Amino acid sequence: MNDSIRRATLVMLISLARFIGAAAILGASMKSGWAQTAPPPAGHPEITVHGRKYTPRSILERNMGTPEDQAMQFPPHKIIGNLYYVGTRTLSSFLIVTPQGNILINSTYERNVPTIEKSVEQLRFKFSDIKILLGTHAHNDHQEGDALVEQLTGAQTMAMAEDVPALQAMKPGGKEHPIDKTLHDGETVTLGGTTLTAHLTAGHTHGCTTWTMKAQEGGKMYDVVIGCSLRPPATLTPEVIAEFNHTFPVVRSLACDVPLGDHPAQYSMQEKYARLQKGAPNPFIDRAGCRNEADIEEAMFHALLGEQQKTGH
Ligand SMILES: [Zn+2]
Repeated sequence: MNDSIRRATLVMLISLARFIGAAAILGASMKSGWAQTAPPPAGHPEITVHGRKYTPRSILERNMGTPEDQAMQFPPHKIIGNLYYVGTRTLSSFLIVTPQGNILINSTYERNVPTIEKSVEQLRFKFSDIKILLGTHAHNDHQEGDALVEQLTGAQTMAMAEDVPALQAMKPGGKEHPIDKTLHDGETVTLGGTTLTAHLTAGHTHGCTTWTMKAQEGGKMYDVVIGCSLRPPATLTPEVIAEFNHTFPVVRSLACDVPLGDHPAQYSMQEKYARLQKGAPNPFIDRAGCRNEADIEEAMFHALLGEQQKTGH
């Protein structure tokens, strides 16, 4: 082999190896649901909050579980008042039932929509009674199914203005992402006597929306907080830093009796569900747990920021 052939062969082998490596990384990230965050979250920094250790990777794994967890129906159940859980094991979907029709928050992945429909029907509600479709944030695992839900129900979809560009880029099977109404921080959505307030809690996405509502149980009113993910991205831009610096105090200031989140692990759904018992106190009423997720993610945000400043990125 002369020199130029040898060099050409070497270049070919290197690019082949790179290609295989990239394909392997892509495959791994698709499998674990990391496709939306590039690069995949690291095993550092490690933080300890309320006696538990977390890394960016462990938080994502806690949120997403396995691909089976993301797709597997979780037993649909009443949370409190007119609010129900209709999501999968690791992707939350909430149904608010009113005399004038229902509201769905988070369609999750498009392939999960039939599972959500099944859960709604198992609770003896009609999927076609969904009149309004809302979301927590413009990532596929929470809002990819919006177009299909709108097709099946004719629901009116509403989204926080700051998330609209990311939602419009979400087109499963080429379907346009439906947005019938654009919302702004503090705006409310009312149907059949239930009012939801949209709080802009940006950082995870630019339009990340925390929803609050009141629910009645046993003659008492409770403040429900349906949190948007507070998980910081791997790289913190000045814009994202400013967003989180605004968001954490906002989240901490919300009146809260019932903390919920767009991934069930954010509010220990499985443990609480296991404690549901007729006549016993409702485990989803958890004032002490209201700040847990903010505690974890704010500590992680500062640890990531410290690491980023140290390495000068
Ligand atoms: Zn997300």
